Amino acid sequence: MAILIRGPAVVGRPGEEVLPKADVIVEGRRFEAVLPGGGAEGNFDFVVDGEGCLLIPGLVNAHTHLAMTLLRNVAPDVPLERWLADHIWPRERRLRPQDVYWGTLLGLAEAIRSGTTAVADMYFFMDEVAGAVEEAGVRALLSYGVVALTPDRIEPELAEAERFVRSWDGAAEGRIRAALSPHAPYTCPAAVWKRATALAHELKIPLHTHLAETWEEVERFRAETGRSPAEWLEELGALSVPLIAAHCVHVSEKDIEILAAHGASAVHCPTSNLRLGCGIAPVAELLAGGVNVALGTDGAASAGDLNLVEEVRLAALLAKARAGPAALPPAEALRLATAGGAAALGLGKEGGTIEPGRRADGVLVSTEGPHFCPGGDPVADLVYAGQGLDVRAVFVDGRPLLLGGEFQALDLEKILARCRRVAHRLRP
Ligand SMILES: [Zn+2]
Repeated sequence: MAILIRGPAVVGRPGEEVLPKADVIVEGRRFEAVLPGGGAEGNFDFVVDGEGCLLIPGLVNAHTHLAMTLLRNVAPDVPLERWLADHIWPRERRLRPQDVYWGTLLGLAEAIRSGTTAVADMYFFMDEVAGAVEEAGVRALLSYGVVALTPDRIEPELAEAERFVRSWDGAAEGRIRAALSPHAPYTCPAAVWKRATALAHELKIPLHTHLAETWEEVERFRAETGRSPAEWLEELGALSVPLIAAHCVHVSEKDIEILAAHGASAVHCPTSNLRLGCGIAPVAELLAGGVNVALGTDGAASAGDLNLVEEVRLAALLAKARAGPAALPPAEALRLATAGGAAALGLGKEGGTIEPGRRADGVLVSTEGPHFCPGGDPVADLVYAGQGLDVRAVFVDGRPLLLGGEFQALDLEKILARCRRVAHRLRP
């Protein structure tokens, strides 16, 4: 299929010059050409009007639990550990596989609507998550979240994680990749990490985990092991494979060196960290130390929504609150959510930018609203004023998932109705 996106301003690679007007040709699953000034001719299966829009690379949500949309805003003001134990886990125990399927579809609808083209999702009933991802058309790195608080859970949890990888890695024409997810250093013993690392080497897949989310968790871990979580993981060899580390709020200078030395990615989840009072991740320090940083929402239960446009803005603002007004300029904040996320998900030179030969994952954002006027610096306007609902069109692998703000593959009314029913049943 050949698509012409006619006339948008184009942010091909955040940080480089914005083309004020260009025609962008998508051929099959890749960007074929970017023609500054426009003037594309030829036969196209369809033409998308990009006038008055900004075309940006697809946004990557590098850490989420999509089906937690079903638990959106449950017990909003409770500290993390009590929140999980008293409010989240009791509801999650009532979830059935089909519930996770519908909750994931809801999460994907919300994500696509606000410009997300790829997600890294960690949860359970992952066959249903993968089915929803396949249906919705996004790109995803999926993993079963291994929690082994007692020794008898180690084998069954790892077996399920491995089964999922072997069933789904490479599915949906390669849009689905799988990872292994020991949930966190404090919820999985060394045996789990060693086995998961060996398996990740064998299957050539990354690890995706939670790292240093709360101060209390890190202090307790230090008291028990004499090490920070990152030091402990390095010692176990778990950093010998690509690691996606969500949060990294309470990392030391040495932790940053360790993460950088092993090419790990940190996923900054600003809204969730703020909501749960976890603190502010040292993003400027992580970047200065050479760590790849991506952005994520975490689950909607703690984040409220799955809107990456908002996370980009918050990331920029919080970096300044910590490190001064020059920290994380708009283009850099946008880079974290695009190329940074693509790198974290292992897309490398396949994605993350709008250039000929790259996977055609792109987002058209309308810049016609009053909040974009008068429109001097489109990237600064997008980061400091843009809204998720400004997104007009979303493409993944050259396939339109949203056009004119309308879903092309999802039945939103049906998803909303099913999710309301499920949420009602989950209430204690
Ligand atoms: Zn999480």
